[in-house]
Amino acid sequence: MTHSSNEAWDQIRRIANTIPQIIWISNAAGETTYFNDQWYTYTGIPHGELRREAWMRALHPDDLPAVIQERDRANAASDSFECAYRLRGHDDQYRWFLGRTTTVKNNAGRVTHRFGTATDINVQKLLEERLQENEQRLQEALRVRDVFLSIASHELKTPLTSLKLQIQMRQQLIDDGVSEAFSLKNLREILEGDDHQVDRLTRLIDDMLDISKISTGKLTMQPDLFDLSEMTRQITNGFAENLRLARCPVQMDAPTPIFGKWDRFRLEQVLVNLLSNATRYGMSKPIHVKAWTEGDHAYISVQDHGIGIAHEHQSRIFERYERAVSGSDYSGLGLGLFIAREIIDSHRGKIKVDSQLGSGSTFIVELPLNIERHANPPITSLTHSLPLSSDAEFNSA
Ligand code: ADP
Repeated sequence: MTHSSNEAWDQIRRIANTIPQIIWISNAAGETTYFNDQWYTYTGIPHGELRREAWMRALHPDDLPAVIQERDRANAASDSFECAYRLRGHDDQYRWFLGRTTTVKNNAGRVTHRFGTATDINVQKLLEERLQENEQRLQEALRVRDVFLSIASHELKTPLTSLKLQIQMRQQLIDDGVSEAFSLKNLREILEGDDHQVDRLTRLIDDMLDISKISTGKLTMQPDLFDLSEMTRQITNGFAENLRLARCPVQMDAPTPIFGKWDRFRLEQVLVNLLSNATRYGMSKPIHVKAWTEGDHAYISVQDHGIGIAHEHQSRIFERYERAVSGSDYSGLGLGLFIAREIIDSHRGKIKVDSQLGSGSTFIVELPLNIERHANPPITSLTHSLPLSSDAEFNSA
């Protein structure tokens, strides 16, 4: 090399060491003859060491086949190539690089050198991957929303269609002057039927509203001191008509007052949901409702002897829209247990199911007894919740 070409090479090397990219040069035989400083800094290989195929060894094994294939193709065609791959750094961590190679040929058209650069594109690549994941998640959320919307419209339509039919039938009876169809007894039955459909619509709409509150973090709890046993009895008694229609005899076991600070309205909602499920999936068999305390916790359980839930579905059914039955056999949105779990979680409690397919299910709600022992429990609550016996125990926290 002449003095001036030495100087030019020196300048090129300085430039090569200034830019952030890795640069390498290889000869016609494919042996690397030069790496800039960035290569040694990144890989941790001792400075100046030109190990044969060091670059290949730093490549991620998963990316190696594609890079080799592209390199061989480019070599055969005396062409340049561009390829993304991961390179192992001195800390043994891989980062994404964009590799580019150009070939230099002599006058006879033979390849004399190859110049390569590798540009760190790790951040862009990870962002790209995250964007792709988000896109997939979004698509899945849209798919679930569409399925939900079609089920929800079907569910809302069922009671509406039934109400509409009833209205048309009555209209016809009026037009035909059949006044005996509107006797007091018949009117009572008509109203009961309408009320049932309106209840169903209200429950569906309430569930949907709760779901949107949960999604936006607006489902807030308003704890108040009350007697869980009394609530359990009141709600179960209020459910008597539904239980009768479903031909499910009910046994209740909530004799002892259980005072605690919880959101009564929301816990009522949980119990109504469990009772409603027990009647729908309970195959007209007996239902057992219990409330009791154990240690620092209060418990409510609803046991049925109906269709039961296979083991593999038992945790899934507490997720949004998840069901273990087919929509054609049993109507429902798969929201009740999800909302129940959100409510119980907000109370720092737990909701569990113990079930065997074909033998029935027991849903158990566990709530922390988060009140001090009350020397003077509120008179109003006690007057209608304390059993008559004198040894009735006011629960201890
Ligand atoms: P829905 O009953 O409207 O589908 P839920 O969230 O209340 O929604 O229940 C989710 C699923 O859990 C139901 O679809 C059903 O498969 C199952 N399930 C809930 N309760 C019972 C029960 N008592 N017996 C059998 N299966 C039940």
